[in-house]
Amino acid sequence: MAGGGPGDPGLITLHALNALQQADVIIYDALVNQGLLQWASADAVIEYAGKRGGKPSPQQRDISLRLIELARQGKRVLRLKGGDPFVFGRGGEEAQTLIQAGIRLRIIPGISAGIGGLAYAGIPVTHRDVNQSVTFLSGHDRTGAMPSAIDWQALSKGSQVIVMYMAIKHMPEIAAKLIEAGRDKNEPVAVVSNATTPKMKVLETTLGSANTDIIDSGIGAPAIVCIGRVALMRQCLDWLGQLDGAPVRNFDPLDVRSISETG
Ligand code: SAH
Repeated sequence: MAGGGPGDPGLITLHALNALQQADVIIYDALVNQGLLQWASADAVIEYAGKRGGKPSPQQRDISLRLIELARQGKRVLRLKGGDPFVFGRGGEEAQTLIQAGIRLRIIPGISAGIGGLAYAGIPVTHRDVNQSVTFLSGHDRTGAMPSAIDWQALSKGSQVIVMYMAIKHMPEIAAKLIEAGRDKNEPVAVVSNATTPKMKVLETTLGSANTDIIDSGIGAPAIVCIGRVALMRQCLDWLGQLDGAPVRNFDPLDVRSISETG
């Protein structure tokens, strides 16, 4: 089971590339960049396990059973998932089912969208001047509803930076909960959609304005929402924009250090 990274094919690991080249069967998810499949061997069987053409996605159980069936046939099976398989990717559940069926497997981690996707937007998930911790949050639970088990008071107080997956749909409720629990409505927020792909879009906003700005900008899923002052660092670290010709300046968006002091 391997992570394919957030999109840019160059972000897969050598282990995952090796697995792609060796697999007899590859079963991949919706968010996997299909460009990765170019490395599959010519006679590999490639199966899609996500939603297609409005049809419901196969049940998790069906995917696991298919993996077990193929493994029992002695096939080298690659289960390829977006980002990292163990970060909001149900990789743990699938691996557990396989292991319970007596199948030996290998887990190949990947670059998760909440880290690598933000890096492509010039946002470090930790930055010494801002945070010593980061919380990864899923914006919906297994039924698609707002996760009900979150202690918004504790999250609001305890987590300097909150990185949310699958959060666009419930952003109005999430922003309201956080503001109600004491987060500043002027707190910086960045929304990064289709991160690391040519379709990447970045919205810079605040907790209070995020909902209207998301609607006005038309930015949509798949997106990572980053709440916290690290989002400001993009004003200096937007390296992709700079490679495209934006100016490079000795400037600190947090107003604490100049480049000569960055030791
Ligand atoms: N295992 C994946 C996450 C799967 S959950 C990982 O580690 O990245 C699916 C969510 O991941 C999406 O709803 C979105 O929030 C996020 N995501 C995945 N790829 C993304 C991308 N290229 N850009 C922005 N968000 C992405």
